[in-house]
Amino acid sequence: MQKEEEAKLKARLTPQQFNVCVNKGTEPPFTGEYWDSHESGVYQCVVCGSPLFDSDTKFDSGTGWPSFWEPIKKEGIREESDRSFFFMRRTEVQCAKCGSHLGHVFGDGPAPTGLRYCINSASLKRVEK
Ligand code: FE
Repeated sequence: MQKEEEAKLKARLTPQQFNVCVNKGTEPPFTGEYWDSHESGVYQCVVCGSPLFDSDTKFDSGTGWPSFWEPIKKEGIREESDRSFFFMRRTEVQCAKCGSHLGHVFGDGPAPTGLRYCINSASLKRVEK
């Protein structure tokens, strides 16, 4: 990310949002705005507004992070191999449009996809459908 762009984001986002979206941080579980939310809506990228997840695909994972079994559009997100956390091999999920860090995707989700998109509340903004 360009320095100038980063400075603009720093001014616009909360410190928590900046840490997650730009520095690929992780919010503490059970603390974010949406982990326990059951309201209907579309979850957009907090940085660029791209529609990423639908409340219809949100489920209670028990992890303390908003969890979805499918993105709105596969092209809306980008997946990258992530080996940053010790020996663990994880798949990072980013917003495909702006590159903002969202969270990770795991293979232990519910039907019909069997996927669990574990996403930081700080990366998301819910809006009316
Ligand atoms: Fe984005």
